[in-house]
Amino acid sequence: MATILVIEDNPANMALATFLLQSVGHEVLSTIDAEAGLTLARERQPALVLMDIQLPGMDGLKATALLKRDAATRAIPVIALTALAMSGDEERIRAAGCDGYIAKPFAYREFLATIAAQLAQSSRPAQP
Ligand code: MN
Repeated sequence: MATILVIEDNPANMALATFLLQSVGHEVLSTIDAEAGLTLARERQPALVLMDIQLPGMDGLKATALLKRDAATRAIPVIALTALAMSGDEERIRAAGCDGYIAKPFAYREFLATIAAQLAQSSRPAQP
C-alpha cells in the first residue's frame, strides 16, 4: 500500500487516522508539528499528506503552501483535515494548495474513500 504522512496535533484524531490507515495496509508517518512534517515530507516522500489545518505554531495552510512551493515536495498530494465548516473555508484550503479535504469528526468510510480516490488519481499517468 502507500506511505502516508499525518500531521495532526489532536491525539484522538491522530490515533483514529493511524488506526484507519493501518487497517487497510498503509504505512503511517506521524507528527504533531508542521515544521517536522515539512522535513518528513522531504526526506520520506510519502504518497500523500493528511494535514490538520489548526496546528500550534505554523498552521496547516501555511505548511501546505510551503510544501507546494518546494520542488522536492510539490508533487505530493495534500488532503486537509479540517473542523472548519464555514463558507469560504474550502476556497481558503484550495488556495493554499490542498488537493482535497476531510471534515472532522471523521466518518470512517468517507475518510478511507477520499484517501483511496486521491491515491488512485495520483498513480494514474499524467494526461497530456
Ligand atoms: Mn489541530
